[in-house]
Formats: sequence, structure tokens, C-alpha cells
Amino acid sequence: MQENNNNDPAPAFSPGFASKSVEEKLLRLGMTSEVDLLLHLPLRYEDETHIYPINDVVDGKTVQVEGVITHTEIMCRPRRQLVCQVTDGSGTLHIRFLNFYGSQVKTLAVNKRLRILGEARNGFFGAEMVHPTYRIVQEGEPLAQALTPVYPTTAGLSQKVLRKLIDQMLSQGEPHEFFAETLPDTLRTALQLAGFKDSVMLLHQPPPDVPSDSLQARTHPAWQRIKFDELLSQQLSMRLHYKQRRSHSAPVLVSKSKLTQALLASLAFKLTNAQQKTLAEVSHDLALPHPMQRLLQGDVGSGKTVVAALAALQVIENDFQAAIMAPTEILAEQHFNKLSAWLAPLGVTVVWLSGNQKKKTKTIALAEIASGEAMLAIGTHALFQEQVTFKQLGLAIIDEQHRFGVHQRLELCLKGNIDGAVPHQLMMSATPIPRTLSMSYYADLDVSVIDELPPGRTPVVTKLIAANRRDEIITRIHEACRTGKQAYWVCPLIEESETLQLKTANETFESLSELLPEVTIGLIHGRLPATEKSAIMESFKQGETQLLVATTVIEVGVDVPNASLMVIEHAERMGLSQLHQLRGRVGRGSDASVCILMYQMPLSEIARKRLKIIFKHTDGFEIARQDLNLRGPGEFLGARQSGVPMLRFADIEQNVDLLELAQSVADEILSKHPQLAQQHLQRWLGKKKTYLRV
Ligand code: ADP
Ligand code: MG
Repeated sequence: MQENNNNDPAPAFSPGFASKSVEEKLLRLGMTSEVDLLLHLPLRYEDETHIYPINDVVDGKTVQVEGVITHTEIMCRPRRQLVCQVTDGSGTLHIRFLNFYGSQVKTLAVNKRLRILGEARNGFFGAEMVHPTYRIVQEGEPLAQALTPVYPTTAGLSQKVLRKLIDQMLSQGEPHEFFAETLPDTLRTALQLAGFKDSVMLLHQPPPDVPSDSLQARTHPAWQRIKFDELLSQQLSMRLHYKQRRSHSAPVLVSKSKLTQALLASLAFKLTNAQQKTLAEVSHDLALPHPMQRLLQGDVGSGKTVVAALAALQVIENDFQAAIMAPTEILAEQHFNKLSAWLAPLGVTVVWLSGNQKKKTKTIALAEIASGEAMLAIGTHALFQEQVTFKQLGLAIIDEQHRFGVHQRLELCLKGNIDGAVPHQLMMSATPIPRTLSMSYYADLDVSVIDELPPGRTPVVTKLIAANRRDEIITRIHEACRTGKQAYWVCPLIEESETLQLKTANETFESLSELLPEVTIGLIHGRLPATEKSAIMESFKQGETQLLVATTVIEVGVDVPNASLMVIEHAERMGLSQLHQLRGRVGRGSDASVCILMYQMPLSEIARKRLKIIFKHTDGFEIARQDLNLRGPGEFLGARQSGVPMLRFADIEQNVDLLELAQSVADEILSKHPQLAQQHLQRWLGKKKTYLRV
């Protein structure tokens, strides 16, 4: 069922089409005019075209039978219920009603003839149906000629009323613009797609000869056409959005290979092939006169930071500024330390900006950003607050982009609006986007993928251990710390209350300190003052702290290569990408690393599935793909991406062939048939046509 998300719900039904109260219900289902009913397609169909001999009914199948009542009785055991026995000559069927009215007892009298539709089961007394739909009929009453559609509906709106409205709308004489074909004929023939009108008519009013399996399974050519159209509408709007963005201008920042070469020469490692390839894509975009909007994705530890640094240097070589925004203070500060160490020797001024900074330091940083003395600004979302003005921002880099809202990303970009030019934008994400998602919901972005890890990493070994074996785990940590290794202990996520989460972290810290007196233990969580946080991280990085007890603040980006053991408490409460991210904090050095997922019984079905996936797989792309399967695109994309209309009929994983087809023709339709494209978008997205994706 759908929610109505329109801001302007003024109904546009023709006068007299339906009563006020019915219109309200249609609105609740997301429909604002008759046209919307066209695409309000059946959830499933009921088959009332056949009568099955009772003797032939199969367990679990929904069928229609007809027979005469031979016995009716109110039974009291095992609980009160009305039971009728019906016979058709071939066999006997019992129908049961656990809730019933007195009047029903009278209607269902012996010798009455019933037509019954329901799911058959093999009960104690032979075939039976519980709460079937039924109707008293005369012998020889004609059968339905076609399958009966069953629509998604809402309380107070019956199937009967909905069917009547849809039939009424479908019978509006021809030619009606409702049914206009929005695919160019040549294309439709080439793609071998059914016509639009034929398809919707068939789905609402299936003719008798349509194979019911293909209708129910939604594989019929009529369904294929509808799914294609839906996917096409998504492609068209994404492409339009993409083109619109390219109509803005941006500074042309050609690589001068001065600073970038200097950094490459000073690094202790060589870029992987994947890093070089993605860097080349970014570098190419920066030299174009319209704003780049590229998503750089790569699994945890694939080395996105250095690619970002090199992109920033290309901008700085051109006397423009760059900014890097990170979602947490810990991560932003880590970037600051790392990039300062890399860039300061090249003579590049890097400044740090955060919400909790001392007023004086902040004033200096702001002045340096405004004068252009600071070539690279690094910080949290403080970077896009009002008082921050750049001299000329050429590139905004957003790390862990999925952690930011759409508006926050937009605002950082507006910072650089000099003479109408928009800064380039590079987004980075360690939550890989499965191919089908990047082809659909992310089709308005350019995507670069770092698909290999730097050499010499040993994959992390994952262990699942029940919480009652906590003692063994603690012994193991003791062992590891004694031999010079470092470990993380991640405290459980407590969604309802941050205070409670903090309390748990404190308690864990205290109990571990008591149990492991020889081990130097640190505690880090989001509520600590910034200076304290960075001191704790620094001590862990230097190897002084051996065990770091942490809340999920360390989820993203934190990079301490010597840490090789991680314990995650109540792993069953966490999502797949979160677990993958956390696990990515170990296995960053040459030591073999272990991640222990502690879980508390009993496990829910979904938690069990998640733990199994994370246990079996280390490849972030595979995990993301399975996560998408488990949760569907709506949840996967998360609330932060909301505003993007979801697909109703097509399934990007199952209909990947149609998705590819839609993608391959979208540009041609936009350039050669802009009118049809508009009509198509209007039909599918209506008022939802404009959505914000920056
Ligand atoms: P992520 O993609 O998760 O942001 P980072 O950029 O933090 O990963 O890189 C992870 C670690 O790998 C860092 O310590 C970084 O310096 C190192 N690294 C990056 N690229 C390479 C490379 N080509 N060879 C070796 N180590 C690398
Ligand atoms: Mg990172």
C-alpha cells in the first residue's frame, strides 16, 4: 500500500466521478485523479472461471467449487464455530467459520447450493476451507469469463467499488489521452514490447484465454510493458536531472601534475591500478566546464582518502580551494592529521574546522578560509555553516556521503557559488552500491569504483560466539594484548536511548578494567569533548592504549593498522553495512585479524540471516547485494535519500534485463522525442516529477 506524499493534495477527479468519501480513500492510496487509477494495477487475481470437482481440490491451492449443503452445525469444540458440509457428487468439503453471524446460520441451510472460493486444506475430516468467500447460486448459473482482479486497497474501500471505478474509467470512449502511447513506434517494435493501452486493459480486465500463471507471476508481456515503462520513467527523470546539472558552469581545473606528482613521489606506497583508474576519471571531470558529481565507491580500506587528496591537489594547483567534509569529528580529525602530514611538506595550508572548536582558533580558521590562505579545509558539518565563506571553492569532497542528508550536501556546494559557477563535487562511500542500484536510483550520478584492495592485506576471520561465552573472549583479548596486539571492544547499539548506550559503554569499560588490570584500556564515545576524543584516538594509534572500548562512533573511517582484534557486542542488533564497516576497522595492517561477533539468543529470523551473511562474506559488494535482497531498495537507500520515488511494479534485481533496456533507450527518447518523454514522466511521476538529488 502506498502513502500519499503530495504536498498539494487538491484532488483532480472529474466532478461526479466518485463520492467525497471515496475520493478521500483514493487519495490515501496515492491517487489524485482518474488517470492514476489506470496504473493502480491488481495485486493478484482470483479464478472464478472454473468449478473444480471437490474430489480434485489440492491442498494449499485456491479454487472455486460448487455444491449443495448436506449438513450445518454450530460446533463448540475445539472452539465455537459454524461448520457446513457441502457435496457435489465427486466428494465432500467442510467449510468453517470461526466468526459468524446468526443470520449466516440461516442462510447456510441444508439443500442450499453454494459457490465457494477459498484455499483448500486437508483437514481431519478430509478437504476443508476456513473462511472462504461464498455465494448462494441457482443450478447452472453462468461463470465469470475472466480472472477477477484483486486491488491494493485501504479500509472502507471495497474491491467492488474499486473495480467499478476502474471499469468506469477504462470505458471512457476512444481515443482518450489516458491511453496515449508514449513509446515511439519504431522503438516499441524494436524492443518487442506490447502496446500501453492493450497492456493496461489486459491487466485490469484479463480476457478468458490469458494464461493465469503469467498474470499472477507478473511475467506476462503486459506486465513486462508496465515494468519497462516504470523503469523508463525513472531513467528519464534521472537523465533529465543529470543534464540539467551539466548546464551549470564550473571552474575548469586542468591537471598540472605539480603538487599531485610531488605527493605521489612522497608516499610510502604505489597506487593500486583501481586507484589510478578512478583518479584518472576524477581528474578528467575536474577539467570540464560543468560541475562534476561523482561518487567514488570502494570497500572499507580500499584507499579512497589518497584519491581524494590527489583530487584536492589538482584543484589547489589551479589556485582554487578544496574542502573535505566528514560525518564524525573523529574521522574529520583523522583526515586532518593524515592530510596535513601529506600536504604540509608540499607547502599547502590545511585548516581544521569543527563545531566544538575554541572560538579563537575558529576565528582564525574562518579568516584563512575567507582569504584563500587555507587551500584545503577539513571538518565536520561545521563546514557549511553560515559564517563560513570560501574565497573560491573549486571542489567539495564528502566522505561517507550516505551519512549526510541531501540538504547538507547541497549547502556545501552553494558555498562556492562564485559568478554563477558551481564547485565540483566528489562523494565517497564505503557502502558499496550494487550494480542494479547504481543503474537505477543513482543513475543521475557518475560512479567510479575502486574494486581492489592494496596488496598485502590478510582477510579478517569472522567468528560468531554466543554471549554466554564472554569469559573466553576476555581471555583471548588478554592474550592478544600481552603479545603486543591491539583490540577494539564495540558496545551495543541502543537505538532508543543515547544515554543508555553511554551507560553501557561506561559499565563495559569499568568491568573490563577490573577483569584485565594489566591491560591499558581507553574509552571513547560521541559525548566526549573533542580534545579528549582526539587524545584517546592518538594514544590508541601510538599503541599506548591496548584495548579501546567504543560505541559505534568508530564505525566509519577510523584507521589504526596495528589493531587486529575486534569484539562486537550484541552484533544481532546491527545492520549489515554497519557490521561490515565496523569489521573494516581491523585487517588494515599485515597481521591476521579476527572479528568476534557476540550475539544474544534468541535470534530473530532477520538477525540470523544477517549474521550468516556477514560470517560468510568479506566482500563489501556481495554483502551490499545481499542486504539489498534482504531489505529491498527503500530501506537500503534509507530515509536520507527520501524524496526519490520508489518503484511499484518493477524489481531492479529481478527485472535487470528491462532495466538495461530502459537505460539504453532513455537518452534517445529524450533527444528525439522530448514531447513523448514529458508525457511519459507526467503519467508515471505526475507531481512527484521534481525531486531533489544533489
Ligand atoms: P578507505 O577507502 O576505507 O577510506 P583509507 O583511505 O583509509 O581507506 O586507506 C586505508 C589504508 O590503506 C590507509 O592506511 C592508507 O594509507 C593505505 N593505503 C591506501 N592506498 C594504498 C596503497 N595503494 N598501497 C598500500 N596502502 C595503501
Ligand atoms: Mg575512508
